[in-house]
Amino acid sequence: TVRVRFAPSPTGMFHVGGARSALQNWIYAKQHGGAFVLRIEDTDAARNRPEWIEGILSAMEWIGIERGSYEGPYFQSSYADEQRAAAQRLFEGGRAYYCECTREQVQARGGNQYSGYDGFCRERGLGPAEGRALRFKTPTEGETVVVDLIRGEPTFDNKLIEDFVIARGDGSPVFLLANVIDDITMKITHVIRAEEHLPNTPKQQLLWEALGVTPPTWAHVPVVVNEKRQKLSKRRDKVALEMYRDEGYLADAMRNYLMLLGWAPSGDREIVPWQVIEDEFRLEEVNSSPAFFDEKKLRAFNGEYIRALSTEDFIAACRPWLTGPFVTAEERAESGFGIVAPPWAPQDFDPETFAQVAELAQTRIAVLAEISSYVDFFFLDQPVIDEAAWAKASKDAGILPDVIAAFEALPSWDADSIKAAVETAGTARELKLGKAQAPVRVAVTGRSVGLPLFESLAVLGRERTIARLRAAA
Ligand code: GLU
Repeated sequence: TVRVRFAPSPTGMFHVGGARSALQNWIYAKQHGGAFVLRIEDTDAARNRPEWIEGILSAMEWIGIERGSYEGPYFQSSYADEQRAAAQRLFEGGRAYYCECTREQVQARGGNQYSGYDGFCRERGLGPAEGRALRFKTPTEGETVVVDLIRGEPTFDNKLIEDFVIARGDGSPVFLLANVIDDITMKITHVIRAEEHLPNTPKQQLLWEALGVTPPTWAHVPVVVNEKRQKLSKRRDKVALEMYRDEGYLADAMRNYLMLLGWAPSGDREIVPWQVIEDEFRLEEVNSSPAFFDEKKLRAFNGEYIRALSTEDFIAACRPWLTGPFVTAEERAESGFGIVAPPWAPQDFDPETFAQVAELAQTRIAVLAEISSYVDFFFLDQPVIDEAAWAKASKDAGILPDVIAAFEALPSWDADSIKAAVETAGTARELKLGKAQAPVRVAVTGRSVGLPLFESLAVLGRERTIARLRAAA
């Protein structure tokens, strides 16, 4: 039976490329009636932090891989005994040898003909001792052929593979070995992982073979790149799934988009129900060339997912950006994510007012975090005026006293009447509606773009509207 694993290292936020691999593993297991194993590769003690482990679990949960629905989490650090025993077996079986060369010595000798370690200690028969690394004896001829569901059969010339270290001078296994031993221990049949690990694969496959175990089938999924075709990097690009979540990308939009990195469903479709992806996805169809992570496209995608929500679900989805939980600026700077509080005081938020305008906002925003800038003027005493917008709109501010008078005289305070009043005031000054409403919009909402104006004023109320117009006039 198929057993796949997702094996993140808890050294930072949850990378979108990792999320993509997790989903692909998850679907592959599902499609083959197999098991999905989560293994936390926590052996780099200097870079690991426990909070990143919780971050991995919750980010996975967010995109639909729920805790309890998979095997694990297992921890690489708990398999140290197995890893050491395997190193010992390789040594005893003559497949590995101890080496006391220092880097400087190898360099002074000029390395081997190809690259890396020159095999100086290979036949010296050294025994274990503190400070001696254990190296794997790679074959000096022949080829290692890797079976890869995406890349065919990448083939590696064995003599180009150096005798690589499998355990350090203090006896601790290196990542390359630990990763293999864990996969063997967990009976993994398919290793689906990022392309950047492909250079390790021939070495790892040699280890599987030397340990007498049939190697897994591999699938190296394409590297994820930015618009400059550079590999997405933590320092340069927005790579953390948590950041997208906190900006108000919907999990459904996100996971749909992630699955499009290197693959597409049938019939020129991109936005499809998740079930279609689960049914149609074929790992073998994933493109081997780099996958462009197009944030603009993701935004547009997300907008469509927002539009497709019921108003009720939209209101529920917006809640975190309106009422918290919020983080402080320091917390956000420290962790890189969290939802920043909107400009109003918490007690000034009014859910009923919001419910009245939610549908209007739903047609306009691309990510949920934008919601507060659309509705803040309802919950602030005074709108935050965008000076540039006011500089432009105030050219026609002469209309405001007329508008105020007309508003005061309106028999009914509803969107149609409000619009008619602004229209009439505009006509008197030969201003089209667009121009006539501009100073009204900026005076009341603070901005030149936003929700439909007249509906908004109807909800805001006559008194508050007029007070703001007076202040501006
Ligand atoms: N822990 C490795 C990483 O996060 C994964 C290695 C693998 O999937 O084999 O890149």
